[in-house]
Amino acid sequence: MSESATGDALGVTDDAGPAAGAAGRAGRETDPVAAGAGDGTRAVRAGLPEPAKYEPTLPGPVFAAHYHLPGEPTGPYTYGRDENPTWTLLERAVGELEAPGRDGVETLVFASGMAAVSAVLFSQLRAGDVCVLPDDGYQALPLARAQLEAYGIEVRTAPTGGDAQLDVLDGAKLLWIETPSNPGLDVCDIRRLAEAAHARGALVAVDNTLATPLGQRPLELGADFAVASGTKQLTGHGDILLGYVVGRDPEAMAVVRRWRKIVGAIPGPMEAWLAHRSIATLQLRVDRQSATALAVAEALRERPEVTGLRYPGLPDDPAHKIAAQQMRRYGCVVSFTLPTRARADRFLDALRLVDDATSFGGVRSTAERRGRWGGDAVPEGFIRLSVGAEDSEDLVADVLRALGASA
Ligand SMILES: *Cc1c(COP(=O)(O)O)cnc(C)c1O
Repeated sequence: MSESATGDALGVTDDAGPAAGAAGRAGRETDPVAAGAGDGTRAVRAGLPEPAKYEPTLPGPVFAAHYHLPGEPTGPYTYGRDENPTWTLLERAVGELEAPGRDGVETLVFASGMAAVSAVLFSQLRAGDVCVLPDDGYQALPLARAQLEAYGIEVRTAPTGGDAQLDVLDGAKLLWIETPSNPGLDVCDIRRLAEAAHARGALVAVDNTLATPLGQRPLELGADFAVASGTKQLTGHGDILLGYVVGRDPEAMAVVRRWRKIVGAIPGPMEAWLAHRSIATLQLRVDRQSATALAVAEALRERPEVTGLRYPGLPDDPAHKIAAQQMRRYGCVVSFTLPTRARADRFLDALRLVDDATSFGGVRSTAERRGRWGGDAVPEGFIRLSVGAEDSEDLVADVLRALGASA
């Protein structure tokens, strides 16, 4: 799906955001990407250092537990749990994608998505605070909830769809949004929720894992933090775990940074470097995968045995209207339900181009019967399908053949 078929057509282009464009960019001398550059250009150049003769374009991973540090122990590089030059470049790259042209935005990378999620939740909340979580979000959120409650934090939950979190915001310190939600693919209005939360003095964090920064930019929609698992489509090869937090409030980010130092949930330099290398192809992957996801969803829509089909990019999906307001691409995940658990298992077994595996966002398609984990409120025949970078016709044909074979 080209940009003109998504972002531009929706009127949500790079230039649409109030902070994007030449004025916002001028502040960063080291930022080589021209104002208004497209997402592909931004992705291939994100976070690169100034060209230096005889140096590689993207310097290799720096393996260091400590750095030469005579005299006063001041930064930028002191100890390996605090800072690493390979993280610095990756953090710059993620920041340029999540908040292009914005000054004062800080990015921190973590060992995993949950390390990043936990860093925001546990660094920002204190005993007696109120936190609002979605009740249909990522499967580890209930674990985080139990831990928050054990620390004396009141947790309220509400569904993502219908902006239901609005009703439980009074007195909240932090609102946690996950849109599109995983695995149900409901969508809420980030701008509306962020305005309501800010009016009550609450901070707002958005889990941007499913959309990726090329699909949605929460900070431009009013969020204080964009948080994500880089394990999924951001890195896209199913071979590393990574997380990040991007924030615009320096004080809040200083607390998140301190949390990372205390807990030590840091990525290895090799993972950080692989992630940066992978981001170069993000636009290619995201465009290809979202175009094919739409083709798969359209094919599934014609099948009588498929119910509950969800893909925010389908024009008649219940989430499409809000998704089109705030998303520039609709992601690579399609969910639907087959009549029985046995039918779903036979379908997964019959697929040849789709691995039966959890997670999503990789270049190789994966699918799973989500109910096998327990915890998600989904029917037994519920399938989460992550569309990879295979040729669209091949993948659609494989899905339709497997549906037929599972009857
Ligand atoms: C996978 C995922 C996470 C957790 O990420 P890890 O890298 O597995 O720790 C958090 N949020 C969402 C929406 C996810 O899909």
